[in-house]
Amino acid sequence: MNSGNARLWSLVALASAAPHLAEAAWMQRTEAIMGTRVYVQLWADDPGKGNAAMDAVMADMRRIDALMSHYKPASPLSQINAHANSGPVQVDKELFDLIKLSTHYSQITEGAFDITYASVGYLYDYRRHIHPTEEQIRKALPAVNWRNMLLDEGHHTVRFEHPGMRIDLGGIGKGYAVDHGVAILKARGIRHAVVTAGGDSRILGDHMGRPWLVAIRHPDDPRKVVTRIPLSDTAMSTSGDYERYFDENGVRYHHIIDPRTGHSAGKVRSATILAPTATQTDGMSKTAFVLGPEKALEIINRMPEYDAVFVCPDGRVLYSNGLRPPLPRPAGAPPAAATATSPRVPP
Ligand code: ADP
Ligand code: MG
Repeated sequence: MNSGNARLWSLVALASAAPHLAEAAWMQRTEAIMGTRVYVQLWADDPGKGNAAMDAVMADMRRIDALMSHYKPASPLSQINAHANSGPVQVDKELFDLIKLSTHYSQITEGAFDITYASVGYLYDYRRHIHPTEEQIRKALPAVNWRNMLLDEGHHTVRFEHPGMRIDLGGIGKGYAVDHGVAILKARGIRHAVVTAGGDSRILGDHMGRPWLVAIRHPDDPRKVVTRIPLSDTAMSTSGDYERYFDENGVRYHHIIDPRTGHSAGKVRSATILAPTATQTDGMSKTAFVLGPEKALEIINRMPEYDAVFVCPDGRVLYSNGLRPPLPRPAGAPPAAATATSPRVPP
């Protein structure tokens, strides 16, 4: 999966809690896995149990990376990319199910989220400042279409029905891994924690009776905060055009690709999604980024589980209905517009 540099957001406790037990404490650990920064913070009654729980989360992240990395030639995902053009490739149920779930997101987002984006996406190399020519995009683009991926539920096989197809789970795998991490912690009796992988996080419980205060960063300055949201028991993902990118002749080439054009999506600077699970928020953050606020809010405002915050190229910050401050409406005034706006973010 992909790299992660300075992360999109940071967690700040609203208040620090007084430990009830002699050895109870907040514990944290950071490791580089899945090409990004994986972070776990938890409240443990016993440091031994806390360490064992963090070990288990990190081990599972490595397991998922080995399964789904498109950088590792031996991974089952790479095997699909190598062979699914010539015949069905069988994979284990876990990988099959995540690929299937990805197609569900493609369906509900009219193809804005599409793991076959990689058929064009592989032509970009952000570290080496390489992007495809228009001609290369024109040739590769017909292979971008999730409907040409044949999934056989009975045999757990994947087959590509168009030459040149590739898939990449970088847009959903970290969220999936974060959800797994939270499930592991819960099963071990942990009740307060946060698990983060790259731009995807999930908060378990609260911060000892108070919400966590989560910041969304300024697109051009990681030290500046655009807004803070109090959260507990929820997941959050941010996709930004400042994570993996390079600029050339005034154009920003970054890692979120519009499957319809093969170019980096340009309608927003960042899209943040809130929902119960990180698999949901990860998938939906690409969608929101590609579709842009208008279309994405139309979809998100119809789904009560989801909320969104957009930072627009002109500095406006837009919120979904669920995050809007309850503004008093003068008698007789029409209902407020579907989108709430805060003052522009200064450059
Ligand atoms: P992070 O990987 O740091 O969490 P994002 O959640 O924004 O960042 O995911 C970006 C990744 O999503 C890209 O690196 C790529 O692997 C994948 N991706 C890019 N465009 C799309 C798309 N249209 N549909 C599905 N996945 C995508
Ligand atoms: Mg992500």
